[in-house]
Formats: sequence, C-alpha cells, structure tokens
Amino acid sequence: MSRTRNIHTFIACDHEYEDSDIVLFGAPFDGTTSYRPGTRFASAAIRNESYGIETYSPYLEEDLLDRKIFDAGDLEFGFGNTERVLTAIEEMTQQILDDKKKPFMIGGEHLVTLGSMRAVAKRYPDLHIIHFDAHADLRDEYLGEKLSHASVMRRCWELVGDDKIYQFGIRSGEREEFLWAKEHVSTQKFNLDNLDLAVKALQGKPVYLTIDLDVLDPSVFPGTGTPEAGGVNFTQLTEALKEVFQLNIVAMDMNELSPVYDQSGASTALACKLLRELLLQF
Ligand code: MN
Ligand code: MN
Repeated sequence: MSRTRNIHTFIACDHEYEDSDIVLFGAPFDGTTSYRPGTRFASAAIRNESYGIETYSPYLEEDLLDRKIFDAGDLEFGFGNTERVLTAIEEMTQQILDDKKKPFMIGGEHLVTLGSMRAVAKRYPDLHIIHFDAHADLRDEYLGEKLSHASVMRRCWELVGDDKIYQFGIRSGEREEFLWAKEHVSTQKFNLDNLDLAVKALQGKPVYLTIDLDVLDPSVFPGTGTPEAGGVNFTQLTEALKEVFQLNIVAMDMNELSPVYDQSGASTALACKLLRELLLQF
C-alpha cells in the first residue's frame, strides 16, 4: 500500500491552489454534440496520457516544473440540463477570477466555452475573443436548440457584441452563418493567415482564447466528433499561438477531443503536447 496522497493531475500541475497562477479544470460535457459524442472523456484521457510527454518544451525552452499550476480535476455534471452545466462552469470560472488566477478549461464539447465566457465577459467589459475552429459555430440555433456547440460563438457574440470575435481556420458552416459573420465578426477562412492583423488590433485588450481542436487537419487529429478535411497541422497551430500569446490572454480553453475516435492515441498525445505549450505561454 502506498502511503502518499493519490493525486491524478495533468503532468506537473500539482501545486496547491493558493500558490498557483493558473487553474486547470475539466468540463466533461457532450450533451449537445450533433454527430458523434465522446468529448466528455477528454479531460481524463489527457491527464492519463500526459505522463507520456516531457514537462520540458524544446520549442519554448521552458519547463512545466517551473510553473505553478493547480489541476482542479473535473467538474461533476448531471446530464440533461444544459443550463445547469453552464452555470456550474460559470461559477467555477468566476471563483478562479475572484482569486486572481487564470482559468484554463479542458472540454468537453465546444458549448462549455459559453459557461466560462459568461464569467470572463462579466469581469472584462471590453473582452475580445480569438477562436480557432474548423466550424463557424455561428448558427442562431441547431435543430431548434439555442444551446448547442454549433451555436456557441453566436451565444458568445451576444455577450461581447460586434467586431470582438476573430475566427481562424473556418472551413465549414451554413451559407447563413458566413453571411451573418461578414456583418458581425472577423472570419479567416481555411487557414491562420492574417493573425498578425488581429494581434495588432487587439494590443492591450483582454482576450479569451478558445481552441476547438478540429481546427487541426483530421490527418493529424482524427480523434474528434466532427472531423473536417483541409485543416492546419500541429506546427502551423503552435507557431500561430506564439503570436497570440503576445496579447493579454485572460482566460482560455481547449475542447472537442473525443478519445473514443482516437484509435491510435495520437490525437490525445497531440492534445497533451499542445496543452503543455499553451500552459507554458499562458
Ligand atoms: Mn467549435
Ligand atoms: Mn469545430
């Protein structure tokens, strides 16, 4: 029998809450997933697999061991009441902000971003959003449902208003979404070009960074519910993120890993490595 505390965190994210600058937490919810559910298992899979990567990043020449990060584990949800799930996420995020720490949420499906965004937008009235995704997520509703991962950025727009959302990598959506986007948000289709313009425009502003992992090409990231061909690779994404971290990122999330579609484990391993890079720059 081991007499040490049984702790299961993302690698090296085992500091005490009080000492930590960043609080990591899982939001294992996939209740509105339109096609193939399974993202509720992502945060647990990421913690498990994180012991397969190094804490040191040769890209950044920095080590997670030098950071003070608290992994709070997963929120516990009942399924079937989406609004209650979002409230639980909002309260968690609010608490972290109240304690002067930075929240990092692991989804779950992309709708979880709305819960966190509600707390962050309340705290930062001039909040801007950088959104990486294959999908526009700008539907007003999906199959009659206003709260859906297909409409999450439309709901976020209701919180922050026009010209505050910058989307990248978008290559899927209804005609109406793309038409609506032209009037209300900035949408970079297909790739991550023109990120430098967004970084210039958002200097000094509080920014929420949300990464839907299906922005990556299915050839490098097949483990997701709605894979969409024509995406970027890992290096393109991490290079772009280096630019994003020149900004004042006040909260962030990473979502839509679905371990049940990750037969090889490569998508989960990618998510772990990306999470390390993100935490080191956050
Ligand atoms: Mn999305
Ligand atoms: Mn997506």
